[in-house]
Amino acid sequence: MARNKIRISEIFGPTIQGEGALIGQPTIFVRTGGCDYRCSWCDTLHAVDSKFHDRWKPMSAREIFEKIEKLSNGNPIMISLSGGNPAIQPLQPLIDLGHDKGYKFALETQGSVVRDWFADLDILTLSPKPPSSDMDTDYDLLDKSIKAAGDNVDILLKIAIQNEADYLYARDIAKRYKYIPIYLQPVNHSPPSVDNNDDKIDIDGIMGRMRWLIDMAKQDDWNNVRILPQLHILLWGNKKGV
Ligand code: SF4
Repeated sequence: MARNKIRISEIFGPTIQGEGALIGQPTIFVRTGGCDYRCSWCDTLHAVDSKFHDRWKPMSAREIFEKIEKLSNGNPIMISLSGGNPAIQPLQPLIDLGHDKGYKFALETQGSVVRDWFADLDILTLSPKPPSSDMDTDYDLLDKSIKAAGDNVDILLKIAIQNEADYLYARDIAKRYKYIPIYLQPVNHSPPSVDNNDDKIDIDGIMGRMRWLIDMAKQDDWNNVRILPQLHILLWGNKKGV
């Protein structure tokens, strides 16, 4: 693949952002293919597992932006750069093209790959992975990701929570990065298998976890946290491309 091509798993929208600080906001998703992590509960394996490599299309920034313009009828909108880990892709030219036309860019990454172009994003959501993911957090890289974004980017933290160890991890992260808004969401505990595209989910389970998380934060007087469900899962289950 040419070095300037971006591996694309899917581009879809406009829809709404289902998670974190932009929840409910109209957006177009650009989901890149490939990830340096293998979280135990990953719900986007179709954009992670290399056995789907042949489904990922190498596209130039211009080709991607043409598709975005078509989907948005040329009306500027927030572009959500997602994955996989979008930080492993060469996204700077796409961000430049979009900004020239008034589009905005929000990128979510676990903070394991640092890029200079984080400073050109509008929003950087860092989603370090808690113990239940079976991944380790490299705090040095997380620090460097925040530094790379600098002062002109809205930086947010978002942590998926499955159990008490995850909650305690999130507490530690919040203490370490006191000045960054933090969002918690229950893990999608019924993630799709890679080819499963159904809309069956355990709503009672999700709501039970929400209530548990809210109670935990209440007990700790943790009042500057935001606790949210994944809105798109409640609306559309595990369906892809909505
Ligand atoms: S970092 Fe995200 S995309 Fe990568 S394996 Fe973990 S949950 Fe999946």
